[in-house]
Amino acid sequence: SRALGILGGGQLAQMLALAALPLGVRVVVLEPDPQAPARLCAEHIQAPYTDPAGLNRLATCDAVTLEFENVPVEALAALEGRVPVRPGGDLLARSKHRAREKEALRAAGARTAPFVPIEYGADLEGALERVGGRGLLKTSELGYDGKGQARVSGEAELREAWETLGRVPCVLEGLIPFEREVSLGVARSAAGEVAFGPLVENTHRAGILRTSVYPSAAPEGTEAQARAVARAVAGAWGLEGLLTLEFFQLPGGELLVNEVAPRVHNSGHLTQDGGGVSQFEAQVRAVLGLGLADWAPLHPTAMVNVIGTGDGREPDWAAIDALPGTRRHLYHKAPRPGRKLGHVNLVAPDVGTLRDRLTRLEALIP
Ligand code: ATP
Ligand code: MG
Ligand code: MG
Repeated sequence: SRALGILGGGQLAQMLALAALPLGVRVVVLEPDPQAPARLCAEHIQAPYTDPAGLNRLATCDAVTLEFENVPVEALAALEGRVPVRPGGDLLARSKHRAREKEALRAAGARTAPFVPIEYGADLEGALERVGGRGLLKTSELGYDGKGQARVSGEAELREAWETLGRVPCVLEGLIPFEREVSLGVARSAAGEVAFGPLVENTHRAGILRTSVYPSAAPEGTEAQARAVARAVAGAWGLEGLLTLEFFQLPGGELLVNEVAPRVHNSGHLTQDGGGVSQFEAQVRAVLGLGLADWAPLHPTAMVNVIGTGDGREPDWAAIDALPGTRRHLYHKAPRPGRKLGHVNLVAPDVGTLRDRLTRLEALIP
């Protein structure tokens, strides 16, 4: 059988491992956290991402991928030349740094929000005006789930946000009055063949993804537009493996790229239960060269994230299980406020039924 190495052992690694097994692929994860979700379904090397013995073990696999962009580029550099690493270090270096990512997206022909990289305090001068007077200051590195960012609508607020975020390199982005948010995955083989995931519509709460729905309510032509951008970025960046793009759709229909993830994405979890190939299987296939095909669900599908609450309220599991078409996916993580603990997928025979059940499902998940 084949072996796939993964840098990172979180819930994405857990679900990649669950998708890999039926393909005849075993998974080995390198992950320092002893409680990492993937420990229960993969070989777990509990060591830092740069640990030489751990990296030697990954180098014996047929290919290596990642499930987390905050792994050091040095870990990938130590593997490159010994084992196919997909995506590679160059692509990781771009996608883990917001300013570099936005510049590389524009170089590939994609549109983004107006932005100004902020390296030093002096860069704040006039920056807010240049992005339209209202914006978000985001740290260039390490931000996720809306952490490491602040909304600003005045010069004083901007300076305060820069202090609060720790005077680290940031990007100031213009606030986009978007109509909706959508996302799309793209996979590319080493030979340059491309395949796409579904166009999914996303809603956020307090900066954290709350629901994803397929099909989206986006107008005709949106999916083709998203695919064209994804194809251009995948080609220009020399993608091998899978990449997910998050978009803002403007009222006129145009798509701006918000950010990209060099991997499967929370918004793609609904592909696990839509009857088609899942995004996890798609990443395993793309990385190991097992053949690429589009991976849209065959039925209307939605996902609701289960996020730790401050007051310890829990989802009503009995009622969720009783709702037709639901399936639980839990990550074996200790609950903490704001932490992603799992998700529930929902599949329905038609869009109307999906909408109706999604409203009921959401009410059962605090
Ligand atoms: P994650 O990686 O978990 O998706 P993140 O911390 O990298 O999140 P972003 O994706 O940059 O954060 O932003 C989180 C959400 O905040 C977006 O999905 C969107 O709803 C809102 N948001 C971010 N940037 C802007 C913007 N420029 N204009 C309007 N809304 C924005
Ligand atoms: Mg992000
Ligand atoms: Mg995001």
